[in-house]
Amino acid sequence: MAKTVKAASPPRGKFPPFHIHPIILKYWSLGGAGSWLGPNTTPITTCPDGVGSFQHYANGSIYYHPATGAHEIHGLIRARWSSLGWERSFLGYPVTDETATPDGIGRYNHFQGGSIYWSPATGAWEVHGLIRNKYAALGWERSFLGYPLTNENTTPDRIGRYNHFQGGSIYWSPSTGAWEVHGAIRGQWAALGWERSALGYPISDELSVFGGAGRISHFQHGSIYWSATAAARVLRERVRVHVKCLEIPVSFTLNEQFAAMQEVYAIGGIRVDWATTENLALPSLNDVDVGSCNMGVVTAEQTSLFGNRNFVGVNEMVAYFVRSTVPALNGCAAFPPGRPGAVIVRSASRWTLGHELGHVLGLSHVSNNDRLMTGLGTFNITNPPPDLIASEISTMIGSGLSTPL
Ligand SMILES: [Zn+2]
Repeated sequence: MAKTVKAASPPRGKFPPFHIHPIILKYWSLGGAGSWLGPNTTPITTCPDGVGSFQHYANGSIYYHPATGAHEIHGLIRARWSSLGWERSFLGYPVTDETATPDGIGRYNHFQGGSIYWSPATGAWEVHGLIRNKYAALGWERSFLGYPLTNENTTPDRIGRYNHFQGGSIYWSPSTGAWEVHGAIRGQWAALGWERSALGYPISDELSVFGGAGRISHFQHGSIYWSATAAARVLRERVRVHVKCLEIPVSFTLNEQFAAMQEVYAIGGIRVDWATTENLALPSLNDVDVGSCNMGVVTAEQTSLFGNRNFVGVNEMVAYFVRSTVPALNGCAAFPPGRPGAVIVRSASRWTLGHELGHVLGLSHVSNNDRLMTGLGTFNITNPPPDLIASEISTMIGSGLSTPL
């Protein structure tokens, strides 16, 4: 019966009787035949599912389903929905009218199974599922991603899915979930071959590195690091570092020292994982006797200190932060057999952590203040971040303390 209801003007001064079709009520609420929708071009028609119904107008449509109510859809968003198969597509029925985006630029309709976003610069594209959830969590079009530039597509490897956006991409696969990748890190990943590269799919959003200026995205088989000074670096190795504090650092925070270490190690393709942190109350070792601090030679106090390896796996390194060494040094990387680690004093430089653990990874001093392994004092480094050279990187990766990702 409702199929042939003719759209008319709302009766004046009279509450609409309950049997008026919700599509008619919506049409009236938008202004009826005099509105931008214009006159109807079809009767109210039952959808193929036998439950929903629609009416087309000169400039749009109204769709109704008992679960969603009646909503209008028009323009390029309607054209996109049409191209996907209307309400029979994964999008289902609209759950909103076309609505202005909070940024004031674009428009969207939400649907039971996703959304279509339009802006003048990008056109209308659908986003749905876990990719849409990630887009929503980041802040929709007001995030750095901006508006979608594609529908959700299948990746060339046939396993995953992605949407590209103005400011990046969101990639999903069944085993990894949905994560954003953007900027220079995305550029590096794209250059390597996206998900078909050795890195595989992203397993994190882009993250700050130890609170510093460096950025990192993690992938199934490695990470990509970026900073203004290091540019984009692919990390296929990692070292795991545990911190044990007898004293809290006073010149540079642990975050600053780890950020600096990662900045340098990224040049070598090595990721620095700060595994655990433990405070140790060992006052008798707080000014630790390091003797001559020669690799392979340790004092009784070093042996005692390096015995503290709670949580530390085989071939993982420990940085022990102390008040001072005796004699006074910035740090000392001599360690007992099978207990790789270094002592670092609380007043150490930004680069001392990376330098001392460089020794643990097999590096020797050089007389060059452009390099991390300068023997002239890391406070005197002249070109932050200091250099690692190819032979040093080979030594580090071959040390047994670095693991392929
Ligand atoms: Zn040194």
